[in-house]
Amino acid sequence: MTADQLIQYLTWAVFVAIFVLAVIRAIRQPQRTNISIALFFSVPTLIIAIGVAALFGFVRPGPIPNAISTTLILVMIYLLLRLVDDFSGTPLWLVPGAGILLLLLSVSAFIYAPPRPVLFTVLILSYLLGLLFYITVVFVRASQRAGGVTRRRLVCIAVGCVMLCLLFITSTLGQLFPQHRDWLLTLTDTFSLTAAVSYYLGFTPPRSLRRAWQEPELRAFLSRAAQLPRLPDTASIVHELERGAATSVGAPRASIGLWDAAQQQLHFTVNGELVKRDLDEDSPASQAFRLQQMLFVTDVIKAYPARVQSSHVYEAKAMLAAPITAAERRLGVLTVYSPYTSIFAEDDLALVQLLADQAAVVLESRALIDEAARVQAREEMIRLKDDFLSAAAHDLKTPLTTLIMKAQQLDRRAERNPEAPVDRNGLKMMVQEADRLKRLVLELLDAARAEQTTLLGPRTAVDLVGLARLVGERYQLDHHQYLVNASGPLIGLYDDLRIQQLFENLVENAIKYGPTGGVIRVELTSAQGQAQIKIHDQGIGIPGVDLEHIFDRFYRAGNADDRRYAGMGLGLFICRSIVEQHEGQISVTSQLGQGTTFQVTLPLAVVAEVANA
Ligand code: ATP
Ligand code: MG
Repeated sequence: MTADQLIQYLTWAVFVAIFVLAVIRAIRQPQRTNISIALFFSVPTLIIAIGVAALFGFVRPGPIPNAISTTLILVMIYLLLRLVDDFSGTPLWLVPGAGILLLLLSVSAFIYAPPRPVLFTVLILSYLLGLLFYITVVFVRASQRAGGVTRRRLVCIAVGCVMLCLLFITSTLGQLFPQHRDWLLTLTDTFSLTAAVSYYLGFTPPRSLRRAWQEPELRAFLSRAAQLPRLPDTASIVHELERGAATSVGAPRASIGLWDAAQQQLHFTVNGELVKRDLDEDSPASQAFRLQQMLFVTDVIKAYPARVQSSHVYEAKAMLAAPITAAERRLGVLTVYSPYTSIFAEDDLALVQLLADQAAVVLESRALIDEAARVQAREEMIRLKDDFLSAAAHDLKTPLTTLIMKAQQLDRRAERNPEAPVDRNGLKMMVQEADRLKRLVLELLDAARAEQTTLLGPRTAVDLVGLARLVGERYQLDHHQYLVNASGPLIGLYDDLRIQQLFENLVENAIKYGPTGGVIRVELTSAQGQAQIKIHDQGIGIPGVDLEHIFDRFYRAGNADDRRYAGMGLGLFICRSIVEQHEGQISVTSQLGQGTTFQVTLPLAVVAEVANA
């Protein structure tokens, strides 16, 4: 046996083996694609059978065997076109049109015995090469669009098509140039062997190969899964799970429906829109969830006629669905779908269930993280309330004690000597302490309110420069210099009383934390429709580590010694709320031991607004 013969027999054996495997699969899973594949491989098997029969002298070369061979080759290309339709779709007219042409050409092949008219040969070659070229282009394009295992399968099929083109070219050349027939025949056999193997791997990959081809995407998905619960929200997690599931199965799309127990519905987000499915709905997703079972639906429209509309919209002809369930908790359902049944196989169901189980783990972890955050937030709330109560109790106690002591003193004094003159100083002190008490209570109330509702009352046109001066006059600034720098009035629409409170709190801090005799400088300027206010003091400054927390509720810097500088750490918190509710900003810069500057930006009013105010 020569090497050429060996290749030829090997090719025949491979084709026959593939045909047998394809037939077994078609019998086990009689879907349209599997039947088309078996039919497709039956053609070369028949051609081989004729070849073997000729080898043993059962068939003599003649016009009838020749016409049969020509027809079989035409049929093979036609069947390949039907497979294109299964894998990627073709224009509606193409398959029936090619069928009619096939019929005409086959009949003519029997009518015209060789040597045939040139026009007929040209027609046959145009049919073969034209369709084959189209088929190759479609498979190459489809492979570029697809991902994962489907891409790898389509690449194999495209390689098979290229090999088939080359095979036709070399066999035609062999007939045109008989002197080169031998080596061209070897080439033809090599191409047909490669085509056979490529088609086999592409059209009916064995399970182990399918798994191996799915593995890289699956592995990538599983390694990403650990980070998914940390994504900012459930919608992003679901999106990532859908993407991972689709690429792992090699499908164009996957969709996760989350179970809403309150509404007894599955909630999907498709193309950014919320789609709700009732549990008793006639859909694969609802059914898979209801029965807690995996489903492989090869023709959604046929199996669920009610789904015609949505199946067209979402291009879901074939669908795999698996319930997402963690222990007893039903979380939702995963569906993977495609406009072509051919890309799925029965054993993909196990993969989809694995992905659904992984999704359950991710969604459960997310739920636990959310629950932990809720518990933490609740604890934080309780802690804040405790802080609030202890700070309030502590700060209210001091003036209250003084007040009671003084009142008792006055009472004793009046009892002992009712005629004695009124102790004006004692009364003054009581009024002062009562005032302090009132201020503290108001501050506490403001702080509580700032978090929940708006602090602001009606807005009027307010001149910030006038207000800055007014606040300065209101404080007894015997021990400090208070300078206001401004080139003209700065008018905005504000809540007058709250902006006064803002200035008061900042100036009060400048006084409290500033040295006796220090200068407090207030600068007011405007830029780009914003008023810029700077309040600078020469006080103790704020340590760097405290700067970022200084506007937090109850926060006091490390150098604000309680005994020396009384306070609750609420003034700046209220300032920040007032400024932000006026759509402004507040910030601070400070140098320890040198002084502190607070900068406030507030929007200024345009003339028309002032006129209307
Ligand atoms: P109160 O609630 O009575 O205002 P407080 O002054 O301690 O108490 P805030 O006004 O909120 O609270 O200030 C928070 C902290 O920021 C202060 O405790 C102090 O440590 C620091 N601080 C604020 N202003 C100044 C300043 N001008 N110089 C130095 N430190 C300051
Ligand atoms: Mg303060």
